[in-house]
Amino acid sequence: MQEHSTQLPNKRFPDWARFISAVWQHGMSTQNIDKDKVEFHLTRAFPNIIESVSRRSESNVIRPSAFLACARQAFIKNVERVAPGAMPDNIGPTFAVGHLLHELSYAAVNSAMPDCFDVRTEMEVQLPEWWPKDKLSFNQEGHVDMFVSIKDPAEAKKYLPESVVDEQSHMLIDFKTMGGFSYRKHAKADYASAVDGFGYLAQLAVYSDALGVVGNGALLAGINRDSLIQPLLPRYIAPSVLMREVERIKLSFEYADKGKDPGPEFLIRHGSEANFYCGRNGQKGYCPFKKHCKKLDSNG
Ligand code: SF4
Repeated sequence: MQEHSTQLPNKRFPDWARFISAVWQHGMSTQNIDKDKVEFHLTRAFPNIIESVSRRSESNVIRPSAFLACARQAFIKNVERVAPGAMPDNIGPTFAVGHLLHELSYAAVNSAMPDCFDVRTEMEVQLPEWWPKDKLSFNQEGHVDMFVSIKDPAEAKKYLPESVVDEQSHMLIDFKTMGGFSYRKHAKADYASAVDGFGYLAQLAVYSDALGVVGNGALLAGINRDSLIQPLLPRYIAPSVLMREVERIKLSFEYADKGKDPGPEFLIRHGSEANFYCGRNGQKGYCPFKKHCKKLDSNG
């Protein structure tokens, strides 16, 4: 193993978000990153990179990262049995870069994290007991990007305030690679009311609940793929937001289970701000069911 001595400066950060950002930034430096860890993580990324550019990877089942943003998506998918619209053929390189930046981030954080913390990446998670067991319609496996635990609370108090160490002994982190525009939006978003068309909050909520750490909150960490010298931007998602998402997802499964159309739930929830995602009012739209959703409304 490479001799690795460069540690994060011994300094207290006000919260997990700023701590993780500093660890990432420190580890990303060529002076600090551990070459063995880079090799491990980039080797792990390689098959996913190849697959991203050579195979289509649309999800055909409901999973924590797909079809949870809106109750009607679950209804269309599992009751109407409509296949999601295809993504563009040239989306592969975007996914490939995402895999690379995820694993590079894991290498950086693993390189610079003080020893009093334990870092697990791509950790397998059993989905919560309320997650439907129907394997044909619901994915039964889950992985969280990163789960950091405090191993030595006394030492950890050199990096985080006492109250944080005592009350948030674990932190779940989901990394998202974003273009510059989305990264700036992510910086300013109020996640208590944000229009979460891509289901980022839903995904975090399912995994937090699965791990029993909803009460700690979680981090949604933005990586600016347009400008990699920009810092990692972890935003704290409060327990109340995660709990609200868990209840909303359970309700959308109840509708699908009873074969009941919840209506254009995302549009109802967010009004005209949802048009960007739902493809209404002349907007392109990203929802994979936007065409069928419009058809249901015009039939109704
Ligand atoms: S278009 Fe909007 S309202 Fe319709 S299913 Fe998709 S997210 Fe839901």
